[in-house]
Amino acid sequence: MTSAALSSAPNDTAFWLPFTAQRQFQQQPMLFTAAQGMHYTTEDGRQVLDAMAGLWCCNAGHGQPRITEAIREAAGRLDFVSSFKMSHPAAFTLAQRIAALAPEGMDHVFFTNSGSEAVDTALKIARAYHQARGDARRTLLVGRAKGYHGMGFGGLSVAGLGRHKRDFGPLLPDTTHLPLPYDADARFSHGQPATGAHYANALEQLFVVHDPATIAAVIVEPVTGSGGVYPPPVGYLQRLRELCTQHGILLIFDEVITGFSRVGAPFAAQAFGVTPDLMSCAKGMTNGAVPMGGVIVGNTVYDAFMQGSANVIELFHGYTYSAHPLACAAGLATLDVHEELGLAARVQAIAPVWEAALHALRDAPHVVDVRNVGLLGAVDLAPRPGAAGARAQAVHTACFEAGVLVRNSGDTLVLSPPLVISEAQIGEMAHSIRTALQHIA
Ligand code: PMP
Repeated sequence: MTSAALSSAPNDTAFWLPFTAQRQFQQQPMLFTAAQGMHYTTEDGRQVLDAMAGLWCCNAGHGQPRITEAIREAAGRLDFVSSFKMSHPAAFTLAQRIAALAPEGMDHVFFTNSGSEAVDTALKIARAYHQARGDARRTLLVGRAKGYHGMGFGGLSVAGLGRHKRDFGPLLPDTTHLPLPYDADARFSHGQPATGAHYANALEQLFVVHDPATIAAVIVEPVTGSGGVYPPPVGYLQRLRELCTQHGILLIFDEVITGFSRVGAPFAAQAFGVTPDLMSCAKGMTNGAVPMGGVIVGNTVYDAFMQGSANVIELFHGYTYSAHPLACAAGLATLDVHEELGLAARVQAIAPVWEAALHALRDAPHVVDVRNVGLLGAVDLAPRPGAAGARAQAVHTACFEAGVLVRNSGDTLVLSPPLVISEAQIGEMAHSIRTALQHIA
């Protein structure tokens, strides 16, 4: 396609973009035509530093040759096979390798095609687990304020972002929420806030209203991601685990963002030393190159399904493209690249540089909070009176013009670069944010 043809594309209304002001986009389209390493190429040929890893997914950087080649090879050999009552060898290899990376005792993987499907699958497994054990009363699903769990009705129901729910009528009835474990004391914490573990006790307080014997699962992102990058206070996840275990409630970590080395360990579960019963993941699983998600399932949960007659379907659930051959090829190559580049260790090594660069923005105009953990970060701006989100949008635009792609969400700049980012590129990103803040001031 010529660039002239691409230029005319935004005037076409055929493509309805997700989470986008459609008509504004048509006036000011942002189009990329290529990506390599840390950079996108814009339609007009500029190089832009990607401080978002695509959308929290290209952890090993763009265009990793090994991943590209694996997809090409798979596409030429086995385009598709269903995994309903059949499958292909790479699906088993990938499941084993993911299980080997997961915390001990989580040896099973159910494949999906997205984070949303992974979350809905995890919620369904949680409810079906209790059913399988003859405990049909346990149906209540507990989410958390500011949680993002994808756009399926299940994930939306446990999500804690009101705006996302506004337009879609009744959601799952049997849900409730914990508060965000964060308050003003924690502002500008370096890494995990030292205070706030007590917020986990909000689960205990729920027991006043809901008999704990009716709760199926608690689902949290170990680090709140789309809601604004809130690392868990020290001890918070441990306390949540303790309460869930004590009351027979399953603990689900939504690791769609935090999985695959983002916080300096294969999963946040290991980074924070807490093992959940189920983990949803996606994004970094295939480095974003082919859509794929999955649920990593703890052995106790899995074993509860594998009882009784062997010729019945234990879990009546699945997707046409579960364990798609191209996705499995991309997933295996992604794990190779993670190993080769030692990405989890790399995050640990560079995280102090990241932390220092972000916190140095504390004295920049409008900055009211900075948060970081692993290679995740957020900079909160004071909203411009009467124009919520306008400042962060202006920073996003100014940074893009200066050659850096940062994500704005409300009045927060959310940062999540490929894990191969260099110290110099961290500096470039922070400099462009500071300059933008000074400019809009
Ligand atoms: N869970 C979390 C924690 C996420 O960050 C996301 C996506 N940002 C999802 C679920 C949904 O993933 P997807 O967009 O692939 O459906």
